[in-house]
Amino acid sequence: APKTVLITGCSSGIGLALAVKMARDKQKRFKVIATMRNLGKRGCLEAAAGITLNKTLEIRQLDVCDERSIISCINSIPNRHVDILINNAGVGMIGPIECQTIEEMKGVMETNFFGVVRMIKEVLPDMKRRRSGHIVVISSVMGLQGIMFNDIYTASKFAVEGFCESLVIQALKFNIFVSLIEPGPVVTEFETKVYEDAENADYSTTDPETADMFTNLYLKNSKAIFSSLGQTPNDIAEHTLRVITAAKPPFRHQTNAVYTPMTALKHADPTGALMTDTFYKMVFKYDTLMHISLKAIKVIRWQAQKMRQGVKMLGFR
Ligand code: NAD
Repeated sequence: APKTVLITGCSSGIGLALAVKMARDKQKRFKVIATMRNLGKRGCLEAAAGITLNKTLEIRQLDVCDERSIISCINSIPNRHVDILINNAGVGMIGPIECQTIEEMKGVMETNFFGVVRMIKEVLPDMKRRRSGHIVVISSVMGLQGIMFNDIYTASKFAVEGFCESLVIQALKFNIFVSLIEPGPVVTEFETKVYEDAENADYSTTDPETADMFTNLYLKNSKAIFSSLGQTPNDIAEHTLRVITAAKPPFRHQTNAVYTPMTALKHADPTGALMTDTFYKMVFKYDTLMHISLKAIKVIRWQAQKMRQGVKMLGFR
């Protein structure tokens, strides 16, 4: 029988691409429940779903910030049976923290962190009873590595990563897999929305040096990075499908290999100096990502060798 997959945030971007890819699966392995906060925005998904609509893909309302909407959506599924939960809904926020209110920051945590927690709380007991299930979260490389002017967004993704890293061990005992997908930049409305907000924001609440650093240095570089390294929603959907169909799904999966050395820096040097020096040089001395990656790879190789020796000493291998 096809597996029931519930995906959050399917009106655009990665969620939409993933819902359609799974619904169009040639082997018909999935029954997709594509959810969105506002059903008024279902047009793009309906068009992309085409003949799969109301066959292998159903659209339902679900706001990850509204517990009642989560419960009524799950209750509408026969036996509340969700084989695979994909937590995709998320919002971005960039800029100097002096220009952001605590309320705005809480909004990001509500969606990106508590939204995931609410969803997992609702499906986990049923998955435990059935002793099967897969919980997937679309995290980010920013769930592993902080990036300047993404302080709150990064904190929300770190929160999700910490939550899942804690839960995964218990879940495995019930034969439930947990997987974090960690994309780098992806060209979606997400990017457009954060840039729009950034362009309309008031930077008079921070000092001119910080405002200039953000509007000139950060925004320009960030746009250049998105256009050179950005992946498509379909790329992320493909990676996610691979994780879902793996015999033993990985706990973490990065979709953009360019970022892997960058996220490994802090593990290579527990004092954090390698990471902070590298990023400082990247931002203010204009070292290129490639230049940094090559240097980082050398240090990481050396560290990996030391770690292997450490593991041997602990008697694990
Ligand atoms: P997107 O803005 O196109 O999609 C996010 C979706 O979440 C939207 O459809 C939005 O309506 C929905 N959403 C927001 N709040 C919601 C709520 N309360 N309830 C239900 N749905 C809600 O952007 P995207 O890039 O497709 O983002 C999807 C996920 O990927 C997010 O979790 C994001 O953090 C993550 N991500 C994005 C990028 C990127 O560069 N775009 C990189 C790494 C990770």
